[in-house]
Amino acid sequence: MRAWVDIEMDNLLFNLKKVKAKVPNAEIMGVVKADAYSLGSLEIAKELVNNGVTILAVASLDEAMELRNAGITQEILVLGILLDEEIKQAAQNDIQITVGNFKQIEYIEKNNIGIGIHIKIDTGMGRLGFTPEKGEEVVKYCLNKNLHIMGIYSHLSDADEFNDEADRHTREQISKFEKFDKYKDKVKYLHILNSGGILRFNDGYVGNLVRPGICMYGMLGYERVQELKRVFSVKTKVLSIKTAGEDTRISYGRKGIIKKGETYATIGMGYADGLKKTLSHKSYVLIAEEKCPIIGEICMDMCMVKIPNTLKDKISLGDEVVVLRDDIIEDMEIEHRCACDILTGIGKRIYRVYKRNGQPYLINR
Ligand SMILES: *Cc1c(COP(=O)(O)O)cnc(C)c1O
Repeated sequence: MRAWVDIEMDNLLFNLKKVKAKVPNAEIMGVVKADAYSLGSLEIAKELVNNGVTILAVASLDEAMELRNAGITQEILVLGILLDEEIKQAAQNDIQITVGNFKQIEYIEKNNIGIGIHIKIDTGMGRLGFTPEKGEEVVKYCLNKNLHIMGIYSHLSDADEFNDEADRHTREQISKFEKFDKYKDKVKYLHILNSGGILRFNDGYVGNLVRPGICMYGMLGYERVQELKRVFSVKTKVLSIKTAGEDTRISYGRKGIIKKGETYATIGMGYADGLKKTLSHKSYVLIAEEKCPIIGEICMDMCMVKIPNTLKDKISLGDEVVVLRDDIIEDMEIEHRCACDILTGIGKRIYRVYKRNGQPYLINR
């Protein structure tokens, strides 16, 4: 294998248990959109469902169908907005949908579609859903018309922002959502907490469902969560090792410099694999747990890294290189640092290696 991501399933389950302990009265909706943040939605979904997760969430009908077609029978919610024909197809496949505008309700009524809906309330994310006031009307309307409301939910915009203003906003969002508590007996699920909400705003939670995504992989924002364990390590191999005979310019645009006598390696991962070009000169890789800075522009399939003196005499062709991991993401010197962004960028060429007890039990792409 040229490049792969190790996925530690034991640690995923450890993190899932921690999540449950934070909100003991709530059930879990496992968010496996974007191919489970690139770690493989089918394998991750199976693992979650086998370990007590009540319902799964994805972004689109395609993602939901992928799980259904693979034999997953668990409840599934599409977090995005489906329109017209897609709503019919969702109903035929017992997939629950998000309702964020009245057109969808009209369509469901007109075509007499039996489908589980989750009414989306915009409490301050500014993305999808009804204002809390309008939302109440919609909930009452749907209850009256006997539409099948499975849930009422909202989404937090600032739960992983770590500042007072953001925290104030989060509390305000949660308090707006709490007004829907009165429908608890009429709908199955009330949910607002994402990873940041679960880890930081779980106190007195009125909902009965939470939606963890990135925290299952041990991270929040771009930081590691101390009490959680590492789940993913993206790796490749050393393909070339050179010691510069003179000061040498490196890669496209020749922006990298290796001084005479310094050693550098070329490794088998580039931006087409998810090592974003914006990380050129702004991140490092680990060889034998030693930091090797990325030098020069990252290429499509490869990049160059500087080998520290302490590693010079130990490094060989084929050595394992850790390219993306929780601690490396934490140290990236880029704007808009975001663990989800980096993770979901992991490319199709990367093999997914699922491990238990440190041993691989499944390898696929
Ligand atoms: C992606 C998403 C989540 C999960 O977010 P994390 O921050 O990864 O926990 C939860 N709810 C909605 C609506 C989402 O879009």
